[in-house]
Amino acid sequence: MKFSLTDFHLHTRGWSSDVAEDGPSFEDYILIAEEQQINICFLDHYELYYVENDKTNPFYNSGIDDYLEEIDTFKETYDFILSGLEVEYYEDKEIQLMEFMDDYKKELDFIGGSIHEWIIGYPITTKNGLSRFLEKIPMKQIIDDYFKVSTKMINSQIFKNICHIDTIFRYINNNEFEPTEDSDVSDDRVIDLGRLCIKNKLKIEINLSGLKFPIKRTFPSKNVVKQLKSEGASFFVGSDSHSLDYFENQISKVIETYLFLNTI
Ligand SMILES: [Zn+2]
Ligand SMILES: [Zn+2]
Repeated sequence: MKFSLTDFHLHTRGWSSDVAEDGPSFEDYILIAEEQQINICFLDHYELYYVENDKTNPFYNSGIDDYLEEIDTFKETYDFILSGLEVEYYEDKEIQLMEFMDDYKKELDFIGGSIHEWIIGYPITTKNGLSRFLEKIPMKQIIDDYFKVSTKMINSQIFKNICHIDTIFRYINNNEFEPTEDSDVSDDRVIDLGRLCIKNKLKIEINLSGLKFPIKRTFPSKNVVKQLKSEGASFFVGSDSHSLDYFENQISKVIETYLFLNTI
């Protein structure tokens, strides 16, 4: 790779449904990355449930081959880009996920596993999804279930890289949906997930997206990163960009985060 540091988490227009129609294309990111001298990895959402059931999903009907072809074409010109996917974990689709990994892990430079929803239609990473979920299920249980499913994902060893391990706190925190008294929102359980990553030799993302939410911290927090690093964890850094402006502003933070990692 041409540059020394890499932003591992970019979402593009047309491939991730949570990017606006006038959002960034591969090329838009590439031009800025070249100027700012940082390697980039495209990490669009690959959610098997929607890939199989939703005809409007960009990856429906082998769209992944077009995705890879597009990125490969850019790779012929630019030597600082990586092809990747942020693959959603589903407890009841482990076999299909393993098959997918067998088929594609060699085709892609980087695959990160993540959890946004474990009950279809109730993503905990959107405000609307979480509030509808909270109308059905008590907060304590939602949080506990998040950690249970995350534990399963990590122990399944399907993925070698895990994205935003405590993203359940994107909206559940003192600045937004205040945790109920019976909820366990301690760092300890995030550290326990990180320890499982260490045990299973998985890399952990330092995801910068929390900086744009009222929680104003990375996922996981710097204190958790410090603790886990001292116990032997490996990390990668992702801005989780969905727009060009945001990406541009995050580059210096990505660099700072790698520096931080080197000083702890
Ligand atoms: Zn994500
Ligand atoms: Zn993402």
